[in-house]
Amino acid sequence: MDCFDLIVVGSGPGAAFAAYGARGRSILMLDAGGDSPQCPELRGNLYDLRRRCDDLFAPLIGERFESLHNLANPPISLKLKSPYMSYIARDWRSATPVAGKGFEGAIGLAKGGLANAWGAGVYRFTQHDLTGFPISAAELHPFYDELTAHIGISGENDDLAEYFEREHALQPPLRLSAFFDGMLRRYRSHHALFQRERVTIGRSRLAVLTQPHRGRGAYEYGNLEFFRPHDPAIYTPAYTVDEMIRAEEVDYRSGKFVTHYRETEDAVEVYSRDLSTGAEEVHRARILLLGAGALNTARIVLESNRDYETRLPALDNAMACIPFFQVSRIGAAFATQDTSLAQLNLVAADDEFGEPLQGSLYGTTGPLRSDVLFSLPLSFRANLTWTKYLAPAMGLLMLFYPGHAGASSYVRLRSSGELEAEFASEPPHAVEGRLIRLLRKMGYVTHAALIQRPGGGAGLHYAGTLPMREKPARYETDSSGLLAGTRRVYIVDGACFTRLPAKNLTFTIMANALRIGRARAAEQS
Ligand SMILES: Cc1cc2nc3c(=O)[nH]c(=O)nc-3n(C[C@H](O)[C@H](O)[C@H](O)COP(=O)(O)OP(=O)(O)OC[C@H]3O[C@@H](n4cnc5c(N)ncnc54)[C@H](O)[C@@H]3O)c2cc1C
Repeated sequence: MDCFDLIVVGSGPGAAFAAYGARGRSILMLDAGGDSPQCPELRGNLYDLRRRCDDLFAPLIGERFESLHNLANPPISLKLKSPYMSYIARDWRSATPVAGKGFEGAIGLAKGGLANAWGAGVYRFTQHDLTGFPISAAELHPFYDELTAHIGISGENDDLAEYFEREHALQPPLRLSAFFDGMLRRYRSHHALFQRERVTIGRSRLAVLTQPHRGRGAYEYGNLEFFRPHDPAIYTPAYTVDEMIRAEEVDYRSGKFVTHYRETEDAVEVYSRDLSTGAEEVHRARILLLGAGALNTARIVLESNRDYETRLPALDNAMACIPFFQVSRIGAAFATQDTSLAQLNLVAADDEFGEPLQGSLYGTTGPLRSDVLFSLPLSFRANLTWTKYLAPAMGLLMLFYPGHAGASSYVRLRSSGELEAEFASEPPHAVEGRLIRLLRKMGYVTHAALIQRPGGGAGLHYAGTLPMREKPARYETDSSGLLAGTRRVYIVDGACFTRLPAKNLTFTIMANALRIGRARAAEQS
């Protein structure tokens, strides 16, 4: 049996950048996922498509009614259900079952991981965000810089720079829609009020190109983020994995579901199951880098220890989704070119949490009307009319809370193979009332009764199952990512986060994985 220098499990943000950091060594990448489908009919932009094409049923709804999934099933993120996007989490419930009261999350099984559907918000962790981690922001800086050059990030060093950190290589930010251009103007004209309230609004930092970069084109405002995977302007780690495959820097094998590992004297054996044939396989390497996502990495570690008792901590960012309306835009014409990506971010200092809370601000012209239809209180026909006229007048503030460590947020592997995943629900907090009052003072109509609270795990920001510590105990990792009690097993995804601030985590998953992969490659040379 060949012995690779490294086996990397997964191909999401963590795994992809661990492998990228270790280029030059012999790398086998075992990934349960597969590639995105081709969707030639989804060219141009959503507005023109709707006007031009008589029948968009197949790409928008789906022959198997994929887009209507949430009408009759446990809800899943709107970005994971349309016909061409559903491959990202297809069959995860049977391939990698999760049991949990009201678990509304998902596990990504795709080349590039869940980041094929992400909003591409990329934010550096500050020293404060890294409180408790055994690594510093200064240690991550060179890796954030390298990532910025590799993937291309758009945004602006505006009022939020203090919170996001100054970035020197930003592309210009996305063009704002009329709704959010108006919102930014209102923010600026109410600056003193916002300062008093310690709330800041600014442009989003996005792994989305507004200028060509390394062979990828700029964003064309197609507003197809809910339906079309792999817009070249929107970064996904699948691009980096494909680059490495083309350069023969990695031996990538898809459809390989890793179940467990076993350390021997001089290597580590990795056991996997081929998802199409069911065949069991074993591969060897000197080092194993686990990046199957924080939930599945925990599953692999627990299975390797045949431990069906221990509860590992689990973190996610609970959300409060606050809709708000600009009455004068009800019935306004839809913009031909638009976006479903975050246009602005909001950061609120908060005494209750003792750390800032972060929100992303989105328009609502992208999703299907049926996704909001049933949340309105009127008749079916009236709701249908309202969703059409309200979309250009509606914004959505998606407010994230920090991940909570506690007895009611955990994962445990059952001997049946199911991963029990529980995430404590987040009650309403005073900050929501503060933000609603601020939005009203800006001239928007909103109310606390409109707030939606997606269920446990719906934040899809999983972390902290095998946390990094200065002095790691069992099921914890040291600052190099090494799992305690092992000599060759490193954790390269969000599982090794010590805590989870209210800031989107994936840029830090990538920077930390790049750091770990590079160090492992250097050690072996
Ligand atoms: C709709 C949506 C919006 C989001 N928006 C943002 C955002 O704006 N900003 C942000 O920072 N984050 C965002 N996220 C979260 C982000 O996508 C995740 O944090 C990130 O993808 C996690 O990376 P990962 O490498 O840890 O795991 P994943 O992305 O989950 O990748 C796991 C990889 O492991 C493979 N795998 C899983 N199990 C096995 C196994 N047993 N054997 C072999 N391979 C396996 C999978 O195929 C996949 O390749 C969003 C997520 C979603 C779904």
